[in-house]
Amino acid sequence: MKPVAVITGASRGIGRGIAEELAPTHHVVATYKGRLDAAQSLQEKTACEIFQCDVSQAADRVALIEFTRAKFGRVDLLVNNAGISQRVRADVLEATEESFDELIHTNLKGPHFLTQLAAKWMLEQGSGRIVYITSVSAFAASVNRAEYCISKAGLAMSVSLYAQRLAPHSIQVFEIRPGVIRTDMIAAVEKVYEERIAGGLIPQRRMGEPADVAKAVRAIADGLLDYAAGQVLNVDGGFHMRGL
Ligand code: NDP
Repeated sequence: MKPVAVITGASRGIGRGIAEELAPTHHVVATYKGRLDAAQSLQEKTACEIFQCDVSQAADRVALIEFTRAKFGRVDLLVNNAGISQRVRADVLEATEESFDELIHTNLKGPHFLTQLAAKWMLEQGSGRIVYITSVSAFAASVNRAEYCISKAGLAMSVSLYAQRLAPHSIQVFEIRPGVIRTDMIAAVEKVYEERIAGGLIPQRRMGEPADVAKAVRAIADGLLDYAAGQVLNVDGGFHMRGL
């Protein structure tokens, strides 16, 4: 039987790119939150399973694991990809608690506790791999996106915690930190980013594509990084490097 990959937020953007990459070699469970149309078009293209799941909701997380268990009886890879941007970019001096709560619940609490469920299952199996899609915002402060940055910085610690806890049990946990990737999430500011990239923001001088992130997941899924537990892969065109 092909290995089983659960990918959250796979109806669009980066998660979809990961699902398309893995579909030829894996049974893929692709989750979506509201865009059934997008999820169905992925299903038509890749013959994956689709499942509605709001990662911020505990009952949805349990239902996703139960669905995967009933359908395939195992999980070999969890990709914590689902995430949201703040609805409004507001200065850190003005940003609201409401927005903070929304981002923390979806971007941090959701994947942290979904990982807890998957990790317990993988411990029963004695194997598994877990990937988190965080962001360069885990370390790069944007003063008008504080809640997003804080959620991603917390998510990076979730990776460290599970990577340490699970490494002795043949379960590897990895973090992928994308830079600026062309998806719906950044559509409203794509032009601004293109101008900044032309001005030197990204050493490799181009915006990333979902396929760039998907290739990094492919390497992990194929076991090429299995002696690199807890590794952080910066898929950002070199943005993280300091220059002088
Ligand atoms: P998109 O907005 O293009 O896609 C988001 C996906 O997540 C969709 O499949 C959406 O489902 C799903 N989703 C949204 N909210 C929830 C929720 N509460 N529960 C479950 N699924 C949800 O985003 P990207 O592809 O750009 O981002 C994917 C991940 O990559 C995010 O974690 C993001 O923070 C991160 N990232 C993105 C970067 C970028 O430049 N684009 C850079 C660095 C990191 P539906 O289609 O049903 O709405």
